[in-house]
Formats: sequence, structure tokens, C-alpha cells
Amino acid sequence: MFEALTDKLEAIFKKLKGKGILKEEDVDAALKEIRIALLEADVNFKVVKAFIERVRQKAVGKEILESLSPAQQVIKIVYEELCELLGGSTSKIKLSPNPPTIIMMVGLHGSGKTTTSAKLARLFKKQGRRPMLVAADLQRPAAIEQLVTLGKQIDVPVFHSYEIKDPRELCKDALKKAVIDRADPVIVDTAGRMHVDEELMRELQDVKNVLNPHEILFVADAMTGQDAVNIAKSFHEKIGIDGVILTKMDGDARGGAALSIKEVTGKPIKLIGTGEKIDAIDEFHPDRVANRILG
Ligand code: GDP
Repeated sequence: MFEALTDKLEAIFKKLKGKGILKEEDVDAALKEIRIALLEADVNFKVVKAFIERVRQKAVGKEILESLSPAQQVIKIVYEELCELLGGSTSKIKLSPNPPTIIMMVGLHGSGKTTTSAKLARLFKKQGRRPMLVAADLQRPAAIEQLVTLGKQIDVPVFHSYEIKDPRELCKDALKKAVIDRADPVIVDTAGRMHVDEELMRELQDVKNVLNPHEILFVADAMTGQDAVNIAKSFHEKIGIDGVILTKMDGDARGGAALSIKEVTGKPIKLIGTGEKIDAIDEFHPDRVANRILG
């Protein structure tokens, strides 16, 4: 994760530290290089522009340039602004005080939605809760089977049907069953598509109306970079999301999606997927990630 960006920032800061006294031009030259490094890491260009402007405003003041260790101060400002870009503080999944909490998982095909639904269920089970999974992606029988198999693997019930064709009907039945079984939380795997289209959005809106979910989590493949960011934006505009789960972080050397998605959508990354295995999911800590980026 972020290897290329880390290497570049390290070189930029080394040069800056070597200067001792800093002039405004030195900071500007460093910011120019940081700008290029972020763009090469596939960060959204508007996000980069705003980021550089914020750092500049904080870094070129008299107090910083005339301080004892101006380069360190500039690095600290970059660190703080990176933290902000990544979402500021850790955002957890909100649990309802009146169980069951209903979590609706949305995203495109291949993003890792089904796998992540099961990973999430396993996390809740480990916390001593009684999660239930709902296979509401009725477009593909394979998706139902995949979730049923994963449910068996983690010993979590999967509400499913090969007969019901309307996801609204399935979700209504699932909610009744969850109440009877005292399941909590209820994690609903919804339909995906290869691309965002009107039909998908209509179906998800219908399902949302039935579920009345406490959390809508958008699952995005980090390796698709700015596509993931743009798709997140469309989902948020059409359905409204509460947070993002960024999958395949283990394969993403650039980090452009992670560094752009909060600023573009206004919604935080809550969890990250770090591998294909069922336990490969972690909370997302902006401060730790910013530290890691700065090496
Ligand atoms: P869906 O179509 O969105 O439901 O996607 P799936 O859950 O079927 O996942 C698509 C592929 O991505 C599968 O091969 C998963 O094993 C893989 N996958 C999901 N999350 C991760 C992750 O965090 N890291 C890696 N390396 N692979 C993942």
C-alpha cells in the first residue's frame, strides 16, 4: 500500500531537511513535487489542488519559516492534512440501540461485496453478536450460492431463496426472520452490476425503502482507483451511503482511491479488505495510514 508515494515523499522531505533555513520558494518547490507525487498516486486532481493549497496556507507563514526546524514543521503539516484527507479519525459502523441493526451492502460486481459481507458477519460474530446474512442479489444464482457457502464456513445463517424473484419480498421475509431469531446485525448483500445503471439504482432504492437500513456501506475495489471514487459519488448521489469499505488494499500500490474518496463523497472509509481470506478485514485508521505514507 502506498509504496510509490512513500518513496517519493521521502525524497522530497530529505531535500527539504537538507536546506536548513527555508524560504517561501523552497516550500513552493517542495509542494510542486508533492503535487506531482499525489497525481502519480492517482489521487483526484481537485483533491490534490485543494490539499496543496491548504498545506501552502499553513506552511508559508512567518512562524513556520522562521521556526527552529522549518522542514519538520512542513512535514507535520503534510501529515495532518493527509490524516484529514483520509477521514480524520476512525469511523466505526453505527449500531442501532434497538436491534437488529440493518446494514445494506452496495457496490458493483467484482468489488468484493459478497466476500466483504461475510467478512463483516464474521467480525460481529467474534464480538459475541448473532449476525444474519441476507442473499438479496437475486440476479445471479451463483451469488446466492457463494454467500451460502461463506455462511457455512463462518457458521452464520444466510437467509436466502432460489424461488423468490423480488428482492423487496425477500428482504421483508428476512427482517421478520431476523426478529424471530433475535439476529443482530442483519447484513444484506444486494445486487451489483458491471456498471452503474438506472435499473440497478431503482432496485437498490426499492430495497432501501423496505429495509430502512441504519448503515449503507459502499464496497469499492481500491485497485480501480478513480473509477471507485466516481462510482462511490454516483451511489451516494442516488441512494445515499454512510461509509465505504475499500477492498483489495493488499494489491493497491498507489492509494489514489483511499486518498480521494472521503473528500469527494464526504463519507468515510470504515473498513478495508486486505486479502481474499475471510479474516482479511481491518478497521481503517487515518492517522496510522498517514504515518505509514510518510514512512
Ligand atoms: P462481488 O461481485 O462484489 O460480490 O465480489 P466478490 O465478493 O465475489 O469478490 C470478487 C473477488 O475479489 C473474489 O475473488 C474475492 O476473493 C476477491 N476479494 C474480495 N475482497 C478482497 C480483498 O480485500 N483482497 C483481495 N486480494 N481480494 C479480494
